[in-house]
Amino acid sequence: MSLVVTGATGQLGHLVVEHLLARGTDPATIVATGRRTEALADLAAQGVRTAKVHFADPATLDAALEAGDTVLLVSSSEVGQRVAQHAAVIDAAKRAGVARLVYTSALRADTSPLILAPEHKATEELIHASGLPFTILRNGWYTENYGQSVDQAKATGSFVGSVGDGLVSSASRSDYAEAAAVVLTTDGHEGKAYELAGDVAWSHPELAQAISEVVGREVVYQDLSPEDHLKALRAAGLDEGTAGFVVALDGNTRDGLLADTSGDLGRLIGRPTTPLVEGLRTLVA
Ligand code: NDP
Repeated sequence: MSLVVTGATGQLGHLVVEHLLARGTDPATIVATGRRTEALADLAAQGVRTAKVHFADPATLDAALEAGDTVLLVSSSEVGQRVAQHAAVIDAAKRAGVARLVYTSALRADTSPLILAPEHKATEELIHASGLPFTILRNGWYTENYGQSVDQAKATGSFVGSVGDGLVSSASRSDYAEAAAVVLTTDGHEGKAYELAGDVAWSHPELAQAISEVVGREVVYQDLSPEDHLKALRAAGLDEGTAGFVVALDGNTRDGLLADTSGDLGRLIGRPTTPLVEGLRTLVA
């Protein structure tokens, strides 16, 4: 009976395994998986078992999963293909007879109009339909998503967007990873959906202030209309699809879809979430 982590070759999944080890989990009971298994060498050196898993290849999933395992399905990074990929993991988990499936979803995925929510909602529905014991971790926004804003501000003293007065309750990737490690290794989470977000809902002028502290120069946030934001992104060389996605996401932010005050994340990890300025600092370290 092992703890199997998908996406352990990626940033969040790797941090989950690090947190499992930090919590004293026997490395021999952890199976870290992904396609680029070379990215698991540091974990293997600490005694963690590794397995090559490709969501499109069910045999790799069958080889990695055993009856009684607890599985963390870290949502795939291949937007547009995620429902089929996640379905493959859920099917394999059923075939194996795992004890519990934990899934990293998005804030209020069941009801949110967030443009990224539909694939998470569909995955949650597949999990419910599977009959497997489950826990849903509805992860909010990563502070690390603001790397480009930090770079832009460092170079020019400003960054642009079209979020208006929208608030964001971001937390660091490591906070979410720690919550996953807690949920994988403690009891009482079966059948629950946690809304995970940072303790503080901040505005973009506050983000500018935090970036200013981190990059050591005055930084201003310039709020544009969605139309002007789209024009600016096109002028900066973004393709139509990416520019439209960024503007739509800023619209979602303006509508408050990245804000949450449930406090679930801080409660799970037993400490305050990482403050915005500390999370940003890791981006310029
Ligand atoms: P990464 O891009 O660092 O990691 C994605 C992981 O998904 C990698 O381990 C990758 O494996 C794995 N993966 C992708 N496609 C496949 C596949 N076909 N078969 C097997 N494994 C696959 O993302 P993060 O760790 O930063 O974030 C984790 C997830 O959280 C993302 O995938 C995304 O769904 C979501 N996300 C959430 C954000 C938020 O702010 N809440 C922001 C960004 C992402 P490999 O590298 O070995 O190919």
